[in-house]
Amino acid sequence: MGAIASVKLSEHSAGFRIETEQSAHQLILFPIGEMNEDVNFSEISQLILNLNPSVKNLLFDLRGVQSLNSGGVRSWILFIEQVRSRYACQFKNVNELFVEQASMLTNFFGRNSASIESFEGPYFCSHCKTRTIHMLKPTDVRMTKQSFTPPSFKCEQCDGDLEFDALEDEYFNFMRNVKT
Ligand SMILES: [Zn+2]
Repeated sequence: MGAIASVKLSEHSAGFRIETEQSAHQLILFPIGEMNEDVNFSEISQLILNLNPSVKNLLFDLRGVQSLNSGGVRSWILFIEQVRSRYACQFKNVNELFVEQASMLTNFFGRNSASIESFEGPYFCSHCKTRTIHMLKPTDVRMTKQSFTPPSFKCEQCDGDLEFDALEDEYFNFMRNVKT
């Protein structure tokens, strides 16, 4: 694996950065912080354009984005459309914020179906009143035309059954656009 580098973005994007790690054919990108209208994705595109031509795949690790507003969503969609036209892109550890957007906006990960490795699933224990996040794979969720059934988990504290802590039909809607 290559070294981890932090991409310096313009000072307007103070609350946001992207760390990258390059291996032979792949660049892993970790966006971290607040994704809003101040984030300058053209700087990130520029970095990607300057990559070694041996890099064929981009892997986005999306667990580090803490907030996302409408300006950030717009810039992200344009950016993703652009990079997906040149690179095979995969997404992993997709956090709740991104799942919620992707379930509302079908082009959130690009117009064509996206390759999603794993994503967060929120669960709740009504006995302990605690919320926990489990990392799910698309194949963990049973999908029919009408409904989605997430996997079951036990509470680590009381061993009781956890409830899924979102509306399944809304939360998993993005899976209709996932490459299988
Ligand atoms: Zn519990």
